[in-house]
Amino acid sequence: MPLTFAPRLDNVETSAIRELFKLLGKPGIISFAGGFPDSAMFDVEGLREASQKALAEEPGGALQYGATEGYEPLRAQLAAFMQAKGVAGLAPQELIVTTGSQQALDLLGKTLVGPGDKVIVEGPTFLATIQCFRLYGADLVSAPVDADGVQVDRLEQLMAEHKPKFVYLIPTFGNPSGAMLSPERRKRVLELAVKYQTLIVEDDPYGDLYFGEAPPPSLLALTPQVPGSREWVAHCGSLSKVLSPGLRVGWMIAQPELLAKATMCKQFSDAHTSTFAQATAAQYLKAGRMPATLANVRRVYAERAQAMGAALQRDLGDAVAFTQPQGGLFFWARLTGAGGKVRDAGEFAKRAIEHGVAFVPGAPFFARDADVSTFRLSFATADVARIEEGVGRLAKAI
Ligand code: PMP
Repeated sequence: MPLTFAPRLDNVETSAIRELFKLLGKPGIISFAGGFPDSAMFDVEGLREASQKALAEEPGGALQYGATEGYEPLRAQLAAFMQAKGVAGLAPQELIVTTGSQQALDLLGKTLVGPGDKVIVEGPTFLATIQCFRLYGADLVSAPVDADGVQVDRLEQLMAEHKPKFVYLIPTFGNPSGAMLSPERRKRVLELAVKYQTLIVEDDPYGDLYFGEAPPPSLLALTPQVPGSREWVAHCGSLSKVLSPGLRVGWMIAQPELLAKATMCKQFSDAHTSTFAQATAAQYLKAGRMPATLANVRRVYAERAQAMGAALQRDLGDAVAFTQPQGGLFFWARLTGAGGKVRDAGEFAKRAIEHGVAFVPGAPFFARDADVSTFRLSFATADVARIEEGVGRLAKAI
């Protein structure tokens, strides 16, 4: 008898991107494919000190089972971190620590989505979210995104038509779009949340990775400007892109009832996020190293983004269209077909691998109506020289 799997698995498949990643082992390949931060930039010294302090000062807390909601000193540090980003008066009890923000998304799926429920996501959006919400049976609806983020008029039409369980947005330097939701649209999104009494999930792992001016405040930070909107925003944060994804420290801020249900589900899932990681993160934040760490990652990624934009312009010209990202880790680009060049990003990705450079085609990032001319390039893990070499190889492959 073959093993039979749960019917919910019928809704999801192994991502096309994972298949592509298998090819990345090829020697000499330059990868713009991953969504990882650069390991060379981890603050190893700071994390070593923080973990040693955690073991020396609070071995019970750092090594014992802990509360599902999160390790109290970390909740306090994260509340202060969010307050510094404009979320006035946030109390530690208003957030729970999650095992990466990915777990917060899973908990939202688990607590809110039943088979056939509508959920609105951006087109394009984060691939793992598509898979995760579909696992719970979500019927995903896609709202278009431009350089200013999700198109709010269209979003309103879709909310009125589909009455979704919630709307999932990455308003600041989205993965993969790189787009930043404009201040006007942020306000409109909050007004829509109140008008349609619909939860907005704000996923914000990239907001701290800005290159020039700071982005507008998060949706959560803006809720005081739109009466009644606070209870309709669930905000997910993460230390992954700015400090270390291996820590698996994320958090979720939401209205108390939702937080309580999510905590209950987390209890069945992993009991709590690693107390050792949480105590280390708490010590790290307490030591006050974060501002310097942020300044460093912003500087390095800004330089790489700049180099990639210039190289794309120089080497690929009008064969690709893109908006220069103002933060985050990604370029989102479109093949124009100009000069008879390739229009299909899947085909382009195959040719690129043959030329020793990898990136991810855009189609899998769409829950519906995939645009096969799109693709995502990450500038995070290659230095400027490799970026220039890699874009040169792209020019040969196109
Ligand atoms: N949301 C988005 C938009 C992401 O790009 C990622 C990581 N690629 C995550 C959530 C999950 O990150 P983590 O679980 O490491 O916090």
